[in-house]
Amino acid sequence: MNDHHATSTLPFVTGYGYTVHENASMLDRTTFRVPARAAMLIDVHEFDAIPCLLDDAAKQHREVLILGGGSNVLFTRDWPGVVLALRTRGLDIIEQHVPGTPGDAALVRAAAGEVWDDFVHWTLAHGLRGLENLALIPGSVGATPIQNIGAYGVEVGEFVDAVYAYDRTTSSIVRLDRAACAFAYRDSLFKRDSGRYLITAVDFLLPRERALRLDYDGVREELAAMGVDSPDARAVAHAISRVRTRKLPDPVTTGNAGSFFKNPIVSADLATALEGEHARMPLWPLADGLAKLSAAWLIEACGLKGFRQGDAGVSDQHALVLINYGGANGAQLWALARHIQQTVLARFGVALEPEPLVI
Ligand SMILES: Cc1cc2nc3c(=O)[nH]c(=O)nc-3n(C[C@H](O)[C@H](O)[C@H](O)COP(=O)(O)OP(=O)(O)OC[C@H]3O[C@@H](n4cnc5c(N)ncnc54)[C@H](O)[C@@H]3O)c2cc1C
Repeated sequence: MNDHHATSTLPFVTGYGYTVHENASMLDRTTFRVPARAAMLIDVHEFDAIPCLLDDAAKQHREVLILGGGSNVLFTRDWPGVVLALRTRGLDIIEQHVPGTPGDAALVRAAAGEVWDDFVHWTLAHGLRGLENLALIPGSVGATPIQNIGAYGVEVGEFVDAVYAYDRTTSSIVRLDRAACAFAYRDSLFKRDSGRYLITAVDFLLPRERALRLDYDGVREELAAMGVDSPDARAVAHAISRVRTRKLPDPVTTGNAGSFFKNPIVSADLATALEGEHARMPLWPLADGLAKLSAAWLIEACGLKGFRQGDAGVSDQHALVLINYGGANGAQLWALARHIQQTVLARFGVALEPEPLVI
């Protein structure tokens, strides 16, 4: 941290470990690729810069938005405050053999700004298992606990040992163990208490031996197509990456944020009524009599798969994915999302909740 900045509440200037851009375009900073500007965008490369930057922003009453890879954010307007984009790097094996873990496991620490998919492959290259089903999810390591990312029958929370975060209410670094993170389906403490914690690093407890989870959405078939009879974790990551590449639009060429809606969780009464009316509707029973429905099925049943309003559309491959076909802005994509929510609510009485952060 430079001395000037450590004591200053004057306008931000680029200093050690961070770069300031004023009136910055956010077009290339989110995978939806919608036009929006931030009054100030700060790329943070060094962990040490974070406390002072947050303190200065608070003193100047500037609202702060924390950004990783921008793959789960939709800007519907400009951001009048500060966007802190985390670019901090660092991967370490903290403990090679963690005592007391079933089998053999290592404790690995990753800085928030590391690219998630690179990190997954780094763990696999070190002979560690667990994260293979989460390959090719875009974004940063620091964002993964926020919505407890999940895919192909695995959620990241299963492997998180602890999250290190800057607590903006106490201005201190805290360590939150897995229980404190309160992971749930696409949810966590960090999502519920949004904006309070800036995640700086995540510790993962990763086994060396673990049964592979292959019974999900075409994984076995893909391995067979690859000619792999006895898969290891790297082959599974490869197979899942191939399936994802085929099924999901590539955000590099087609603006999107993956699934736009969470699968809704409904009461037992509503689930029973819907099951009676729609025999083919997918439904997963949960604890306490609740049930999870397929948001994609509900949207498709409303005839909205492939639906377009100008350059804002629903993917014709995957009803959960909203697409910017080129010229859509965030407000247009959000209007489309609202239309989907209203149509599904009117037809099924089910409220769909957006997965990304909508600004
Ligand atoms: C093609 C595609 C496929 C996807 N597939 C999946 C999938 O299979 N499963 C899944 O769960 N998600 C999926 N996603 C969503 C997305 O990739 C994940 O949610 C990812 O973890 C977001 O990471 P990010 O760094 O881009 O976060 P951002 O979009 O930058 O931020 C997301 C949220 O996290 C907050 N945040 C980011 N970093 C930090 C930090 N260090 N501290 C505190 N808050 C922070 C932001 O403020 C924001 O609220 C997909 C997205 C795309 C585009």
